[in-house]
Amino acid sequence: ACGKQAGEDFIIFSSKMEEESRHRAAIAIDLRSAAQNGQLELHYQPQNETATRGLQGFEALVRWRHPEHGLISPVEFIPVAEETGLILEIGRWVLNTACMTAAKWPDRFSVAVNVSAFQLAQDTLPLQVASALAKSGLAPSRLEIEITESGVITDQAHALEIVMALKELGVSVAMDDFGTGYSSLSTLQSFPFDKIKIDREFVKSLGDSQQSSAIIRSTILLGASLGIPVLAEGVETEEQLAILKMEGCKAVQGYLFGRPQPEAEAERLIDLDGQRLQGNQVTSN
Ligand code: C2E
Ligand code: MG
Ligand code: MG
Ligand code: MG
Repeated sequence: ACGKQAGEDFIIFSSKMEEESRHRAAIAIDLRSAAQNGQLELHYQPQNETATRGLQGFEALVRWRHPEHGLISPVEFIPVAEETGLILEIGRWVLNTACMTAAKWPDRFSVAVNVSAFQLAQDTLPLQVASALAKSGLAPSRLEIEITESGVITDQAHALEIVMALKELGVSVAMDDFGTGYSSLSTLQSFPFDKIKIDREFVKSLGDSQQSSAIIRSTILLGASLGIPVLAEGVETEEQLAILKMEGCKAVQGYLFGRPQPEAEAERLIDLDGQRLQGNQVTSN
């Protein structure tokens, strides 16, 4: 029975893989026209200061509004975009759109944009970024480029050149998903990051697991020692926020403060933050 069970599992697995690859092929075909047909959308997730709960900026996260399948997650189509090279075109669209949108916000708010390994492996990224800044008029200091460790390990020397070129433009560079790669510490040592984003995996078990508290505490300490600000991702509860605050984490992002949301809704958060500031002024005067 055991062998049969395993056999059935294998059949299910292989047919799933077939389905999966057919699905991917279909996605690849549709994706080619998605950017031109205006089917891509950026949603903006708030990033907040821990102490005041004040809004600091947003991370731009891409979605694909497929005419038949509905809203498709980047987890599904970014890998396909990378395999097919379409990520270059999509990445350029993301940069331009995020900068255009952020340029409409008050100056104190930043925007973070994810770039993938494939984009970093090209020489064109700094040019794309410079062009997005010029077209939108966004101050470079308000743009943050997020890169993951997987984005820099293939050709570290080249990735470092690109990162230095980005920094010369005046944009900041964040290390995304910190702690999930093979050698986060070594990557941190080799690249001049302006921010560390602790992966939500560690935040998720805060309060339940001593290990995750220890890892979070060490990362915050590490950031403080290196003079690099740390932001915790995936903060969903007040309890997690309280622990992070106690541990000295200055910035957070997560469903507690808001999901990734369309531009118009992000603007409402900006208005609310403006009211918060005015309220503070009234009470402190
Ligand atoms: P990421 O850059 O680490 O983005 C954070 C992900 O965590 C987002 O998923 C966000 O919706 C999710 N998240 C944020 N707060 C919470 C929370 O409190 N709880 C939970 N459960 N999840 C939370 P999303 O939007 O599905 O994006 C997934 C990944 O896709 C991103 O991870 C990023 O690696 C990639 N991605 C998204 N947009 C782009 C893009 O424009 N370009 C590239 N190259 N990659 C992108
Ligand atoms: Mg990110
Ligand atoms: Mg992340
Ligand atoms: Mg991630």
